[in-house]
Amino acid sequence: MVPQEQYKAPPTADGTMKAVRFHGKRDLRYEDIPVQKVGKGQVKLKPSWVGICGSDLHEYMGGPNLCPTTPHPITGDQVPLTFGHEFSGIIEEVGEGVDDYKPGDRVVVQPIIYDGTCGACLEGLINCCYSNGFVGLSGWGGGLSEHVVVPTSTLYHLPDNVSLEVGALVEPLAVGWHAVKISPFKSGDAVLILGGGPIGLSVIQALKVRGCQKIIVSEVSPRRKEYAKQFGAHYVLDPTKDNISAKCRELCDKQGVHVVFDCAGVQAGLDQAVHAVRARGTIVNVAIWEKPCSIFPNDLVFKERRYMGVATYGKGDFQDVIDAISSGKMTPENMVTKKIRLDEVEENGFKVLINDKDNQVKVLVEVGGGW
Ligand SMILES: [Zn+2]
Repeated sequence: MVPQEQYKAPPTADGTMKAVRFHGKRDLRYEDIPVQKVGKGQVKLKPSWVGICGSDLHEYMGGPNLCPTTPHPITGDQVPLTFGHEFSGIIEEVGEGVDDYKPGDRVVVQPIIYDGTCGACLEGLINCCYSNGFVGLSGWGGGLSEHVVVPTSTLYHLPDNVSLEVGALVEPLAVGWHAVKISPFKSGDAVLILGGGPIGLSVIQALKVRGCQKIIVSEVSPRRKEYAKQFGAHYVLDPTKDNISAKCRELCDKQGVHVVFDCAGVQAGLDQAVHAVRARGTIVNVAIWEKPCSIFPNDLVFKERRYMGVATYGKGDFQDVIDAISSGKMTPENMVTKKIRLDEVEENGFKVLINDKDNQVKVLVEVGGGW
């Protein structure tokens, strides 16, 4: 594979387009920017549907954190940057040397930017690249624009029976898929999921495909509790009312669950998780934390419990999710709770997700739209 590091910021072409760019904390602008020119090994896409992600909200409310404020080592870009890393689109133009894709192809973008040359990349762990970044957070444009140029190494074809709208859900679903795949979860295990937001729901769906028979979700919001049940949770607990760890022991042989997936990233949840997981069980952290948390290592030591981190998705995860949707094993359509236009991203997207978080799962932005 050609290292992505060869793709520096693409030269600009004639004309301008509308894009939603992040300039800094609480500063999101719908503005005209130059259209990128398609280069060797790249394609130009018309984004169709774009999901707004929790990490976009974190950048907006408290960033820049992930978004570079000095030139990114691979993209060479820095804020202001076009947002949008959960997206599907239709290819408009292909660059030199591109044989596998043609104009009109329906695709989803795996937004990981990696150098292909570091130790992690050479071991195949592109999501752990030491220079990593994301399309839509670190440069190379993003989905929230009328056109975007990306290398073909980011692309996956969508089958005819999977809509572009659902295609925009592949990225968050791949996060849950990857977490379950690299966790020690095995058939017959009981699982606790902390948090019933988009990532918690994606973990539930990945577990259902693997036939998990005991999915316990801890969530406060009434609407999210319902979603958790709808997507397949067997028990939904409320951490403000239930003693999560006691309940997990009660439901699981007086020992607790085999695996916890922390999709919430709050101290109170972790405190419960440590005692909700059985001896030799594992706590899998999927969440991005806003600040450090504390864990008493003795709680791990005396029961030989493990704590591990998982990051985004790796090779194969996007295809697995696309196959699961195409074959009907996964039906994520109902994750979409609101659809908006590109010119209303801040007011009706970001602000709604911040102020009405409990009633929203996934807000999709219609850019080019279509099936
Ligand atoms: Zn690397």
